[in-house]
Amino acid sequence: MTEHDEREERRRRSIELLNQIQRRADEVLAENADVLAEFEKVTREFCIGQAENRTFARRPQLGFKLVCEGDPPARIAVRPNWSRHRKQVLFDHINVELMIERKLNAEGATTVDRGFGLAFNRGIPQGTLWAGYCPDGAERMVGTIRGFLADPAAVFARSADNCCICGRRLTDDTSRTRGIGPECIQTIRFFPVLWDSPTSLLDRMPVRAPAARSTQEEVQG
Ligand SMILES: [Zn+2]
Repeated sequence: MTEHDEREERRRRSIELLNQIQRRADEVLAENADVLAEFEKVTREFCIGQAENRTFARRPQLGFKLVCEGDPPARIAVRPNWSRHRKQVLFDHINVELMIERKLNAEGATTVDRGFGLAFNRGIPQGTLWAGYCPDGAERMVGTIRGFLADPAAVFARSADNCCICGRRLTDDTSRTRGIGPECIQTIRFFPVLWDSPTSLLDRMPVRAPAARSTQEEVQG
């Protein structure tokens, strides 16, 4: 085999592998269509609630992030699309991105790769593999979504360091235990589908005893 043939063969194999992963991802999305539809509904409602009928000059920070289980460490980031031209949030176009942490060196420096993208176009899910593809990206994303719909408080609680809603660092014990800061906790009322009432969610939020006082200093805005 000439060098050229070997290169071609490698190229052919990597394309075939990517196609396989994409087909598998499409299957995973199809098998979980009901779960994804429910997640899209819940997410859209939350983002519309967060926007509170305001108009925006720039893309607002709407949506949330969830920590995935398993290795390598990963999160999914959920947010609606933004039309720069119309200066409008497109709530019918929700994007979910799997962000995978990658170690750069032994000193612990990391970077984040986009592993798998899911875009809802008026409720229809479309999955896309990104460069540096992740063979189980669709599975990890759907697994996180399933866990969230089953027990949202438990999935929020996975994020001790950063607020799941705004991403800011969490410092006090109560916030770190529930994964949401003191201001963003107000926004959980925009998840009415998930809970009978906002207070029932608060009841279910894990709180470490003794509960931190609300006057405690906290980094969050
Ligand atoms: Zn927050």
